Amino acid sequence: MKKSPLEKGEKAAGLGGCAGSFVPSRQKNLSVATDDPLSANFKRTWERVKIQEENRLPSPQRGRGAQGEGGHQGLSVHPYPSGARKLAKLFAAIILLFPSIELARAAGTLSRFEESQPHMGTVARIVVYAPNSGAAAAATRSAFQRIRELDGILSDYQAESELSRLSHQSGGPPVKIGADLFRVLSVAQNLAVRSNGAFDVTAGPVIQLWRRARRQRALPEVDLIAAAFDLLGFRWLTLDAKQQTAQLAKPGMRLDVGGIAKGYAADAALKILKQAGIERALVALGGDIAVSNPPLGKKGWTIEIASLNLSGVPKPRPLLLHNAAVSTSGDAEQFVELGGIRYSHIIDPRTGKALTGRRSVTVVAVNGIDSDALATAVSVMDPPKGLKLIDATPGAAALIVVKTDSAIQTWKSKRWRE
Ligand code: ADP
Ligand code: MG
Repeated sequence: MKKSPLEKGEKAAGLGGCAGSFVPSRQKNLSVATDDPLSANFKRTWERVKIQEENRLPSPQRGRGAQGEGGHQGLSVHPYPSGARKLAKLFAAIILLFPSIELARAAGTLSRFEESQPHMGTVARIVVYAPNSGAAAAATRSAFQRIRELDGILSDYQAESELSRLSHQSGGPPVKIGADLFRVLSVAQNLAVRSNGAFDVTAGPVIQLWRRARRQRALPEVDLIAAAFDLLGFRWLTLDAKQQTAQLAKPGMRLDVGGIAKGYAADAALKILKQAGIERALVALGGDIAVSNPPLGKKGWTIEIASLNLSGVPKPRPLLLHNAAVSTSGDAEQFVELGGIRYSHIIDPRTGKALTGRRSVTVVAVNGIDSDALATAVSVMDPPKGLKLIDATPGAAALIVVKTDSAIQTWKSKRWRE
């Protein structure tokens, strides 16, 4: 497994065609043993220990004054008789040294590893901090395996996936489904209600027509869209949590979880890494990224937002995230231009039409399943309504960039911080 230098700017979002790749900015090796902030911390601690050493010599000036000079309460020498003083010093030394030993140990043993593989129609990239390449490789292998497993469950391209089999039973009785599919459909349905149908996983038939349009570079026929549109509607999908079943009311309905599955898979892979003892990791599936604890000595993972990439538009500042997820949706990668109009791979389930125009939506949320689905939903919604939805979602924040004929408009939710 490749040991990799940490770089600034884990690229967020598939937009800009950089899914899964590094931003080749500072090629600085931050393998934790030599990480600057860490050694700074280490130095500070040693400085404090040195102050303690100096304070050992009782002097009328020093005495209690150690406190005020960067010393420690436990280091003041005068108030204690000698036995207790020794104990106090030992205690203080332990307190002072403990974190530095911990950090130093971690610094000496944790390194950064990363691997990329194609999964779910995009590049899946996993970055971990692990004690050695064997541990990193084993954990990463299990995480990729989990992503593959989820693709086998949630893909609408694979005829034998659980999702496809459920779709093929549309019009029939409720179907028992597994925990993963049930969770994805539950979150999707919840968002369908909250977004007034802007997010809708029953849009499969319409999405397929627009997919074909992109391939054939021809607009779908109106009557085909109308027929597909008849089969669309999240209210025709019923979930039963107790029985763990799903039922599609109309024959011909088709589910498509392309707007939520990658975020869920990123969450799931991160969970596997945690179970393997990897506490500091990043999982990126194209434009959907989930991270756990920050790299050692860092406040968070630096994640660049791939926005519209238009000349004259300043790039959004990178995000610094830990224990969170970020997704970007937009039309930069998958689109078709017909008659001078750019049609996105995101469709408006309320009209059956593909979105047009240029727009990029970045959503930060607690989980990847939420950031992914919200980014797709907000892409469809009017920006003010989308922001309301984001503000009403605990822990969520969004940046919306829209290009109109005359200008670039930027919208930020209340929790968006740069
Ligand atoms: P990407 O797949 O590029 O990360 P998204 O997360 O926005 O982008 O997902 C887009 C995919 O979601 C589409 O390819 C399609 O499969 C599905 N989709 C398109 N429109 C909608 C919608 N309004 N609601 C739910 N899913 C959608
Ligand atoms: Mg999405």
